[in-house]
Amino acid sequence: MKNTTLVYADINCPFCFALHERLATLGLLEQVAWQVIEHAPAASANDNDPRLNELLNNEYKLVLQRAPDLVIHNPQFTPNTALINTVLYQLGNILPDQLIAFRTRVYRALWHEGKDISHPDIIRSLLHEFQLTDILGDFEALPYNNYWQELWLNGDFDMRIPAMAHTHNEDVMLGLQNPLTIRQFIEYKTVDYFDQSNVCKYKSKDKIAIFCANQHRSQLNEMLASCHFELHFFDKIAQLKHTLQQNDIELLLIDSTLDEKFSLCRNLNFEMPVEIPIIYFSFTSIIDVEANAFMMGASDLIDLSRQRMALCERIKVHVRNKKKLDILTTHASLDALTGLYNRREIDNYLERSWRNACRYQNQVAVFMIDIDHFKAYNDYYGHPKGDEALLLVANVLSGGRSEDLVGRIGGEEFIIIINDSADIDLDSIANRIHKSLSHQAIEHSESDTASYLTVSIGVSSTNAHADNNYRMLLEEADQALYQAKKNGRNRTEFRELATPIYKK
Ligand code: GH3
Ligand code: MG
Ligand code: MG
Repeated sequence: MKNTTLVYADINCPFCFALHERLATLGLLEQVAWQVIEHAPAASANDNDPRLNELLNNEYKLVLQRAPDLVIHNPQFTPNTALINTVLYQLGNILPDQLIAFRTRVYRALWHEGKDISHPDIIRSLLHEFQLTDILGDFEALPYNNYWQELWLNGDFDMRIPAMAHTHNEDVMLGLQNPLTIRQFIEYKTVDYFDQSNVCKYKSKDKIAIFCANQHRSQLNEMLASCHFELHFFDKIAQLKHTLQQNDIELLLIDSTLDEKFSLCRNLNFEMPVEIPIIYFSFTSIIDVEANAFMMGASDLIDLSRQRMALCERIKVHVRNKKKLDILTTHASLDALTGLYNRREIDNYLERSWRNACRYQNQVAVFMIDIDHFKAYNDYYGHPKGDEALLLVANVLSGGRSEDLVGRIGGEEFIIIINDSADIDLDSIANRIHKSLSHQAIEHSESDTASYLTVSIGVSSTNAHADNNYRMLLEEADQALYQAKKNGRNRTEFRELATPIYKK
């Protein structure tokens, strides 16, 4: 093989486009074998999938930060790439000399001109520009290529793109790296790179669960074939519930003849950790039961004897709405700047934690963390730098135990909530934070406390008791924080919330 660096990439991934452009600028496109794969097989330009749109917008913003020199426009949709990837694969076999120029044109058609490169007419016009219609005119009949797809999915890439790999050793580079690092990798030099925020992850098809009798499976499979969902069939309630608990199922279809009173729907809505739309269907006409189904919590009822044609589109509407709700729910509980839990979620969590802790007589601990001299930092370095510093501190705080909740209370104040804290070394958690910040050494020339950005921490803990409440615990932590500030900052003070003792 002439090329010894493989690149796995998709046309509809902005990081892959940016890498392709970088290689073009560096004159290195000839040195790599660019192997197109599908990282979002359910993507469709027409579907307007809210989750893919949100990802696209975030990825686009990252590319702008990462490669400000690049010309790129957000097309505002994610086209499916099965067809264009097959065309590129075939072109590579027949006319390898034309491949780089044509692929560059395809990438730019999407990322400069916002063309829907999944549409056969657009592909045809691009082929026409290169006078390739005689050779590849019948591209819609080409067999789908999934050879590279298999290599990528089964390779050591964590299902991420862009991924560069050497053929003769195990070296892999993920994400869009800077031009120097890219060159070093392709030239087989040792490179250190860390930032992998600029990768696209594999997005599987949306999963739908169907509760129906076995003999209806093939019929439903056929009816739902054009929706591009991953279908999971069940005929036993226990298995269905297990999957709903474990899996990211987007919607549940239930054959109404198996649950005529719609009680399964009510049970599931009550028991399941996340709400998903539940839709009943029937192969025979449904009479006089609709009101009952909706009252029991069903999202819809489909009479397949009349409404078969609209089945796919109808389900897609429900899935789209569910995803929008998921996104809103996430945004409502997270702080926009740091991505940590916001005040509302912190309160909800504390309330739940306190209730649990009272029931099991557990200890709960809270850390109140406040950045030292942050007003002076903002005044001296400016608000944007202040925001960056908040993000760095948030990352340090998130670097602890995964089971603890880390949130931003507001401004430059953060909180960590630790459940069941009796056997946990709170001291060492606080020390880790102070130490990490001293290693990060975020310069703060205006601080009276140190030459770098520091925090003060107030910790309180208690054996949860129903005659106390979590607000008292917060108040105690606040007092400890006040003490830490008073005692010179860049330190942690502890206070115990006393448990009431009643004499007999
Ligand atoms: P101390 O050591 O006593 O905590 O002093 P301090 O200056 O940190 O405390 P103070 O409460 O006086 O100031 C907090 C500052 O935090 C005020 C404001 O400039 C800054 N701040 C609050 N929220 C944000 C934010 O979202 N972004 C930025 N950049 N700054 C913020
Ligand atoms: Mg403060
Ligand atoms: Mg402060």
